Amino acid sequence: MATTSSVEIAVVGAGVVGLATALRLAGEGREVVLIDPNEPGSGASFGNAGTIAEYACMPVGNPGVLRALPKLLLDPDSPFAWRWAALFQLAPWLVRFVRQSFPEPTRANALALAGLLAEALAGLGGNGAGGWPAGPDAPQWLPVHLSA
Ligand SMILES: Cc1cc2nc3c(=O)[nH]c(=O)nc-3n(C[C@H](O)[C@H](O)[C@H](O)COP(=O)(O)OP(=O)(O)OC[C@H]3O[C@@H](n4cnc5c(N)ncnc54)[C@H](O)[C@@H]3O)c2cc1C
Repeated sequence: MATTSSVEIAVVGAGVVGLATALRLAGEGREVVLIDPNEPGSGASFGNAGTIAEYACMPVGNPGVLRALPKLLLDPDSPFAWRWAALFQLAPWLVRFVRQSFPEPTRANALALAGLLAEALAGLGGNGAGGWPAGPDAPQWLPVHLSA
């Protein structure tokens, strides 16, 4: 039997992005429900190597990818694959992707990503806080493991 419930905010997807979003909202006193048919953290977040890769701020859509797009689309050995039957459905996304891959949007997107990534490092206690060393020798990654 179908049941209905009413909450203030529904976050769809319980990967690291959805979990962090829900946690932040709950911390601010908002009523949140997470919706996911799978175990939390079982998607891409499960395989995460845990690198706070602040240097990885170049967006996937960039002029280099744009130049390589025809070869990526036509080469059968290309790592990029899509269903031609879905071309009509994908067209709006592809148009946005191409537009965002021009030099100026790429630069703006890289700066936006760099801002997010810098906050991530500081949030984990980098820059000398929380016991994580600062300076040129500061680690770019933190080894963690399950103990049992
Ligand atoms: C092997 C590997 C190593 C990586 N290493 C790093 C790293 O070192 N550093 C780094 O920054 N990034 C790394 N990444 C990338 C990073 O893990 C992903 O960018 C990140 O986990 C994406 O999180 P997400 O919450 O967007 O997606 P996911 O973790 O995939 O979560 C999406 C969730 O949404 C759910 N979902 C999908 N569709 C629906 C729907 N219609 N309704 C409800 N739920 C739905 C899925 O079940 C899933 O649980 C790595 C990725 C991989 C695969």
